Amino acid sequence: MSDQDQLRNTLETLDGRSYKSYQDLRGSYQFPGFTLHIDRVQGDPFAAPSRLRVEIPQDRAGYPPSTYANKSRATALCTYLAAQFDHCCHRVREKRGSGKSGLIEIDAPGQEVLERTCVQVDSTRVEVRFAVGLPAQGRRILGRQAEQLLSQDMPDIVEAALYYARNNGAEINRYAEVAEDADFLRSQLADRGLVAFVAEGSVLPRRSGIDDRPLNRGAISFKTPESLRVEFRLPNAGPVSGLGIPRGVTLIAGGGFHGKSTLLSALERGIYNHIPEDGRELVVCEPTACKIRAEDGRRIQGVDISPFIDNLPYGRDTRTFCTDNASGSTSQAANIIEALETGAQTLLIDEDTAATNFMIRDHRMQLLIAADREPITPLLDQVRPLYEKRGVSTVLVVGGSGEYFDVADTVIAMENYQPHELTARAKAIAADHPTLRQRQDDATFDASLSRVPLPQSLDPRKGRREVNVKTRGMHTVLFGEETIDLSAVEQLVDPSQTRAISAALLYAREEYLDGKRSLREIVDRIMADINTSGLDILDRRKIGNHALFRPFELAAALNRLRSLQLGHQC
Ligand code: ADP
Ligand code: MG
Repeated sequence: MSDQDQLRNTLETLDGRSYKSYQDLRGSYQFPGFTLHIDRVQGDPFAAPSRLRVEIPQDRAGYPPSTYANKSRATALCTYLAAQFDHCCHRVREKRGSGKSGLIEIDAPGQEVLERTCVQVDSTRVEVRFAVGLPAQGRRILGRQAEQLLSQDMPDIVEAALYYARNNGAEINRYAEVAEDADFLRSQLADRGLVAFVAEGSVLPRRSGIDDRPLNRGAISFKTPESLRVEFRLPNAGPVSGLGIPRGVTLIAGGGFHGKSTLLSALERGIYNHIPEDGRELVVCEPTACKIRAEDGRRIQGVDISPFIDNLPYGRDTRTFCTDNASGSTSQAANIIEALETGAQTLLIDEDTAATNFMIRDHRMQLLIAADREPITPLLDQVRPLYEKRGVSTVLVVGGSGEYFDVADTVIAMENYQPHELTARAKAIAADHPTLRQRQDDATFDASLSRVPLPQSLDPRKGRREVNVKTRGMHTVLFGEETIDLSAVEQLVDPSQTRAISAALLYAREEYLDGKRSLREIVDRIMADINTSGLDILDRRKIGNHALFRPFELAAALNRLRSLQLGHQC
């Protein structure tokens, strides 16, 4: 193994040489207190930066076992360390030549606490993966700048960010306790008959549509309506009380701009843990909850949307419905069926992003268009069978139609950003003003929920490249010749999840797509593999910017792949 001095000498001799000589750097170097691995060296200063890794033996790093004793704590600790490392990188980062020269960067976390490949901690070591732009002027190596970067700045960052003794133990503990409490809450929901919980005092609004940090000025904190108050005893924070959203059908009503969508968005994100001070630390939702929206233009392949849509013109089949260009209502129906296929037990729907004709058809419209001319059975008629026959709860933001009063178990009204329970009032209104619309009482919820993808669905080749799989931001996966659009998959929160999903698609192709296994089985097996072996199972190159995703988001990517083919084609 080379040591730090040798690395320094090598960098000196590389000065002024052509960029590809940097390839000589690959290998491992022993530094005082840690080992540096240079795993991949970029081809030129403008290419994706080089991939580096630092390993510190745990007896040097010094983290007490309690800081990573369970998954909640370990993930919180890793999130904290990634944020620290990121912070230190920003302090030293300066441009040192062309392109990405001088860059040093880690896959920094946002407000959510996600398992990431960039920091891994266990009883043997702390491993941190990061990216470095090896310095050059044009294509000439800047050896002295590289030396400054790798033998001074980088060790300084490691020193300042990664050793327990240099970190704030109380802060690490807070990250751990907050995550542990949130996971505990989530695990208790089912026993209490709840699908979600919002703690008293939570801060739900965000700074802006592109800034997920809590609104800093004028945020009204959450107050619990007495009739829906529930209490928990958390392992760390002790007693906590707040709004419990029961299973069944829940309406979130209220005037425009009174905070309905903000509450629903917080529930959507409640499948993840949040960092301290986020405001949503104790806002949790049951882990299979899926946001459902209309997504016109998407492709649908062989989905049984017949509970919602039947009798299409020209006898088109809706039991294995296919289209390259879905409408608002067919896309929303497919999004529901696909979520159920992957195991969703709760649906979250906002009228802002729903198709009106999918949500409701009123009395007058029923008079104008006879039932046998209308293919759509609106959600209004299916939301109860969904719960009663399949145990699937729905939380709906509806400000525009009182028809839902008849089918709701719980009605919450938002007023000036505060929730009130108005179930009794809504039921009284429904009794005093009976609806004239005809309910489709015969609605049942029979849908076939098993589809078998064929291996040829996933072809990663493009041009002369055998494997061409990339992502662009959070919403686009380029898979071979195909482009997968994930912009309507709203519970993705980090581009690193999208990268990991793209790796999971390749992994699915290699390991599980055999033309016999169902989509559900494939996705479940991948999640089980990740659970036992970690995210690195998806890509053995020790990638530093993958983050954990749910089975639902992985299935969403497969379902949006335009080349998806099924065992029984339509
Ligand atoms: P609705 O869906 O009822 O029309 P939104 O949830 O979109 O309303 O909220 C409207 C605006 O109010 C948004 O800009 C949001 O950030 C802000 N807002 C929501 N909840 C709060 C709150 N608790 N405190 C302060 N501002 C809030
Ligand atoms: Mg809204």
